[in-house]
Amino acid sequence: MRFLPVFLDLQTGPVLLVGAGDLARAKLRLLAAAGARIRYFSTDGHHDVSGLSADDAARIELAQGDPLTSDLNSVVAILCAGAGDIGVAMSARAKAVGLPVNVMDDLAHSTFIFPAIVDRGDVVVAVGTGGASPVVARRVRERIEAVLPARIGDLATFIGRWRKTIHGRIPEFALRRRFWERVVDGPIGALVLAGRSDEAEAALRNIPDASAFAGALAPGTAEGRVTLVGAGPGDPDLLTIKALRALQDADVVFYDELVSPEILDRVRRDASRVPVGRRVGKPGIGQDAINRLLIESARSGQRAVRLKGGDGFVFGRGGEEIEALRAAGVAYSVVPGITAGLGAAAQFEVPLTFRHEALRITFLTAHKARDAEAVDWSTLTDEKMTVVVYMGMTAAPSVRSGLLAAGRSPQTPVGVFARVTRPDAQAAVGILRDLPDLVEKIDGGPAILIIGDVVAHSAPWREANLNSVLSKLLETAA
Ligand code: SAH
Repeated sequence: MRFLPVFLDLQTGPVLLVGAGDLARAKLRLLAAAGARIRYFSTDGHHDVSGLSADDAARIELAQGDPLTSDLNSVVAILCAGAGDIGVAMSARAKAVGLPVNVMDDLAHSTFIFPAIVDRGDVVVAVGTGGASPVVARRVRERIEAVLPARIGDLATFIGRWRKTIHGRIPEFALRRRFWERVVDGPIGALVLAGRSDEAEAALRNIPDASAFAGALAPGTAEGRVTLVGAGPGDPDLLTIKALRALQDADVVFYDELVSPEILDRVRRDASRVPVGRRVGKPGIGQDAINRLLIESARSGQRAVRLKGGDGFVFGRGGEEIEALRAAGVAYSVVPGITAGLGAAAQFEVPLTFRHEALRITFLTAHKARDAEAVDWSTLTDEKMTVVVYMGMTAAPSVRSGLLAAGRSPQTPVGVFARVTRPDAQAAVGILRDLPDLVEKIDGGPAILIIGDVVAHSAPWREANLNSVLSKLLETAA
């Protein structure tokens, strides 16, 4: 770390801004947002303050004369943006009198640099890369923007208003900290984040005994809960913002075999990770045991996450789990995930519905041939229906015979899409007649089958067609 992030109060004296053009104007906006008084020396003779509010503009003093000889009395910092050589000279002058100085895009002449900023009112996050890469800093900022609740600033302001009062009521530091943790993590914090500050205010006012309230958060007595989270098909960037937040908030994560390592990487460092799914060749611990684990961990005060591949409510037994939680009186919530069928559709460009061509979608599972036999294929004869089959690899021959017997054309386009949205994703496309052969081409699951005319719009289909046209052309040429 070369630069220490600090938060500077710019309201104590004027900030000197030297420069011109868009660069200077961007700095004017930033400084104005921080409530700074700005003394602006234009280096192109043109004080352009367009795009600033009247309030902000009122804080700007349009300075005349030479910044290199101007009075630096009570100045807090010097900024140069789009100032050319004058920036370098200003830097020397600032250093001579010990004033912090920033020359934009010129690390050598700067004693402080600007971070990328997340600005949510009282909550401000600064991200720096020591000047190495502003683009990387911006990407980090985007990630932080995504995980911070929109009203996190309101929460800080809310607490700020009550700090003194609570300080008076709970003199002991550790207890006071627990009080605030309980407020932030509990229903009161949730009310503020939901935009219901008035109700939060009332709830806080109605706490009869602040110390007792704080004491209730002693380890082991906290309110635990379970969040059922859909992890999506593999690519961690396909997690929802809520899912990511739950992972970063978890004390323990119970995950299925289908959850990719990249997604487990997103779990809070200190959380325990417990695999509960079926492993290759080994049975899982069983649904009842999973339900018990979830209930026990919530009852012991933990924030448990039940993490499942795709979506928990699509062939994921999420329904059974929340029923067990409900019966046990454990608090829970559900965060959806992108189901494998949608992941496959997006990655390989299979529009699951298409005007005039596909008006319905059926998601079904055909785990074993036996299950496939249990499917009522006669309900799937509609040519304008796209059929998405989960767990259909080994049962592929039964899927084919079922659909053919129901009267679907052997020429119906089909696709087998494996390990979708992961780095080693794979697709094989063809027609229903050849479905078992297509499955043979796949080097391992998990894989999903999509059956219907829309598969002919997919990227691998178009590619295969292009290839066959090309080879025919080559044959005729030869
Ligand atoms: N709840 C999950 C489905 C669990 S059933 C979801 O919503 O996606 C398991 C089946 O899902 C697998 O047999 C396979 O058919 C499909 N599947 C899961 N992840 C997949 C992936 N990354 N690529 C292709 N198919 C996948």
